[in-house]
This record gives sequence, structure tokens and C-alpha cells, in this order.
Amino acid sequence: MKNIFNYTYDKLVTFLLENGFKKFNANQIFDWIYKKRVYDFNKMSNLSKKLISFLNENFDNYFIELEDSVNDVDTNKYLFKLYDGNYIEAVLMKHNYGFSLCVSSQVGCNMSCTFCESGRLKKVRNLETYEMLEQLIIIEKTKNIRIDNLVVMGIGEPFDNYNNVMDFVRILTDNKAINLGQRRITISTCGIIPKIKEFAKENIQVNLAISLHASNDELRTKLMPINKAYPLKDLIKTIDEYISITNRRVTIEYIMLENINDSVENAKELANLFKGKLVYINLIPYNETENFLYKKSKKSQILKFYDILKKSNINVTIRREFGSNVDAACGQLRARKESGGLC
Ligand code: SAH
Repeated sequence: MKNIFNYTYDKLVTFLLENGFKKFNANQIFDWIYKKRVYDFNKMSNLSKKLISFLNENFDNYFIELEDSVNDVDTNKYLFKLYDGNYIEAVLMKHNYGFSLCVSSQVGCNMSCTFCESGRLKKVRNLETYEMLEQLIIIEKTKNIRIDNLVVMGIGEPFDNYNNVMDFVRILTDNKAINLGQRRITISTCGIIPKIKEFAKENIQVNLAISLHASNDELRTKLMPINKAYPLKDLIKTIDEYISITNRRVTIEYIMLENINDSVENAKELANLFKGKLVYINLIPYNETENFLYKKSKKSQILKFYDILKKSNINVTIRREFGSNVDAACGQLRARKESGGLC
């Protein structure tokens, strides 16, 4: 059976036309599911009997199941069970400017970053578009809120699931559907160069974030094996191309790991890589996990690092720490669930 949340407006129109229905039927259906949030076709009172039975025959609208949640003052973490028994996570953060949701894009991850909990489970499969969308729909319903910002920074590598993630973005930003502003969405990638190039040509205003985490190739290859396939020089060149095509500022994410990538030398190298470019560097205090030996950099070292970048006229911020009390770093909740820790 098909899931209606896999369908962008254009795909639904095509499917309906192929089956003898009308384009405006897609508008009616979108209005019910995204505006009225009614999912039972039988309750869609302005649809013909014929269309309702067609929809019932073709779609099952299976929902992912909210299995568990862990709550902190400004962070809620959600564990979802998928139809095949796999688990994924989403994290909701309350900022002073609204709610920000971090969604997963895959079950597990193949990128093998040495500090990241998500990659301890190798990729099992890509998430379908509906499985990404329903993370948002269920959380909005459970909390009785609307999401203001969305980041694809949960479990998985979104550019290793490009087509489904882009359909997800199309539905999110469609004013007939979720109607979230393009600029309110950020996709984070470890640096899959061919997909960054493709993304540059999408002609959308969705933000791009790059997980850099190192200031030279030797260090980056140690931390992120993907650097062997797509080394720093090529990645930076691709970021330059992206900026010249889109004229959009790129976020560079840099996790601060004590005595690994947080030296003065590293800060200077990083400054040299990005001096004068349309980027902003986000320094992220590492969220320590029991499975890895990495430590979070000392506050004083993070500030020293920050100052060096600032003095090179680079836009830089230190990310406020969210969710360290609720194991909100990618994959931590799933990891505990699988080892029986949460039950
Ligand atoms: N695969 C994508 C998106 C998922 S990871 C990417 O690599 O960008 C989202 C971000 O969280 C990445 O920057 C990742 O490196 C970072 N991250 C992973 N584990 C972390 C931890 N324990 N503490 C802080 N950030 C972490």
C-alpha cells in the first residue's frame, strides 16, 4: 500500500490524473491532511464516493509510532518505531524565537564518523518521505504546537537519501501543505560533494550546513572517513561553487573535541580556510557519550578558539548546549533503547 505523505503535490496530481480524477482533488486532499489534519478518507466530506473508495484501496496511511519520549526543560526527545521494527529519533528544542525540530533521515548511518553515536548502527535503510514528515506531524499533535524551524540533523546522512529528503522539503515548504518557510529549514551533510552540487541547482532557499569538524585533511580523515572520498580541498571548492550559485551563506559545523581539534593551530587553519567567505562557523561543544572516549573541549579553550576566528573577521557562534541531560546527541536514545536501557 502507498502512503499519502510520500506524495508531493505534483506527484499526487499525476497519480490522480492517471486514474481518471481531477487536479483539484489533490488540493482537496492536501487541505484535509495538512490544513485540517484529518487522515481518514471517509471523513473527507467534499470528496466523491468514488474518490474516497479509490483512496481507501490505494493508501493505508500507516503512521510511525511514538514509542517513548524524554523531556528536559527546553528539550524533548522522541523515539519512533517504524513499520519494520526499526527505531529513529527526533529532538524538539524550544528557543526564545520558537520551536525547532531535528529529524532523522535514515535508519543508522554509513558515514562512520568516529565520534558519532548514530554511526554505531550501520545504515539499515533510507527513511521514506512519509517517515520524515510524520516525525513533525506527530510531534506537533502531541505538543499541540506548530514547528517554526526544522533541521535535518538527526540520525543519518540526508544527502545519502537525497530524493526522499528533497520530496520531504517540497512538502514542508508547499503552501498547500505544511507551509514552512524555506529559510527555516537546514540540511546538514558530512560533505557528499556530488549532492552538494545538485543541491546548489535546486533553486531553493533551504540552508546548507556542512559538518566539517577538522581544519586539515589528516585530522578530518581520522574523524570522518568520508574525507577520503571527498577531501577538504575539493569540499571547500564545492562550498565556494555553492555560494557563487546560490549567494547563500553556508553554516560550517565544528564540534569541539578536547585535545583533538581544538588547538590554537587548528583555529588558525580553520580561519585560513574560510577567511572572506560567505560562511558562519558554529562551534559545537561535544555531547559526551559513554561509548566514545572523546571529551568536550574546556570552556576556556572554546572561547580562545572563538576569539581567533573572530579576529579573522569570521562570523562565528558557540552553540548553546541542548539536551545533554536527555542524551540528545544523535543516536543516543536509539542506542539506549536497543541495549534495553530505556525500557
Ligand atoms: N550526517 C549529517 C547529519 C547528521 S549529524 C552530518 O554529518 O551533518 C548532525 C550533527 O551532529 C553533525 O554535525 C554531527 O557531526 C554532530 N554530532 C554527532 N555526534 C555528536 C555529539 N556527540 N555531540 C555533538 N554533535 C554531534
